[in-house]
Amino acid sequence: MTEDRLAKLQIWMQEAGIDLIAIGPTPNMRYLLDFAPIADERLCLLLVGPDAVRMVVPSLNAEQTAGHTAVPLNIWEDSDGPAAALREALSAMPAPRRLAVDGAMRADFLLQLEDEIAPQETVDAGALLAPLRQRKSASEIEMLAAAAAQADQAMAAAIEACRPGVTEAEVAWAAEVAFRQAGAEEVLFTLVASGPNGAYPHHHTGQRELQRGDAVVIDLGASLNGYKSDITRMVHLGAPSEEFLEAHEAVHEANQRGRAAVRPGVGAQDVDHAARSVLETRGYDEYFVHRTGHGLGLEIHEPPWIMAGNDVPLAEGMVFSVEPGAYIPRQFGIRIEDIVVVTEAGVRTLTGYDHELVVKE
Ligand code: ZN
Ligand code: ZN
Repeated sequence: MTEDRLAKLQIWMQEAGIDLIAIGPTPNMRYLLDFAPIADERLCLLLVGPDAVRMVVPSLNAEQTAGHTAVPLNIWEDSDGPAAALREALSAMPAPRRLAVDGAMRADFLLQLEDEIAPQETVDAGALLAPLRQRKSASEIEMLAAAAAQADQAMAAAIEACRPGVTEAEVAWAAEVAFRQAGAEEVLFTLVASGPNGAYPHHHTGQRELQRGDAVVIDLGASLNGYKSDITRMVHLGAPSEEFLEAHEAVHEANQRGRAAVRPGVGAQDVDHAARSVLETRGYDEYFVHRTGHGLGLEIHEPPWIMAGNDVPLAEGMVFSVEPGAYIPRQFGIRIEDIVVVTEAGVRTLTGYDHELVVKE
């Protein structure tokens, strides 16, 4: 499977006039090799040429790397430094005129590479990799579904923990424990934004105690086999106001309309428009301050971007969030977020937790 990915990349790089692609130990490497060593300051590069592939790897990670890939390794020792191994790897390929680099790798890796080669042009490899990574295989979709099921469990635990007098951090901890118990390999974020804090889409979960009358935004994500989860649901402590219920209804409908617009061939921006126009009609557009969604896979945010101006046609296997919101300064915030897959027939929603507002005493 990963040989196919490398082979496709080699065809596409030639079509794009790229002579060399340099990939660090990032989600791009994990995608191409099904493995990436733990990233640190030691030079670790997958070098993809039109006819050859090499990997420069520090000796402490060499054995583990060799167990995951048949790509020839150029191994270096801490006491020697990476320059000779890098030079040897590059000698297997023609001198590159156009270099494409992994935008997520360390800048000093690029500087070390440029000590050895002098390309006329350096571009972001993201444009080459996005078309490959955007369309998930059946096995990737099942991994994302398993990650989403964990997020549902963590959401149940977080909602259970919400009550007056409990801090945001304590609610976040309940979600974190649930993720770990369900087998998540890494908990990425447990955002709990209560009352007026909810008006910040990226609030830093803190020591505020939940109070009766609070709307609580809970946005959770973790990693399972490298694949990410992301879900947002709403809780209200005590009876909600008319004003809150109206806004909640608008966001809820925007989420449903956004997801209902998903099918192959529709532009990414049309999903944004479907969700946004509900909020416009109901007078909340000025409070919806971010794009409708982002792709999800080995990274929590990756293409396709679900926003105005992105006319990329949706295709079977694309996975992304639909997460409209309304943020009323100093009062409350609302966001309802799901992860969806584009299917042949239309759409499948991976996040399963009930969408209705949870009202607790
Ligand atoms: Zn998201
Ligand atoms: Zn989220």
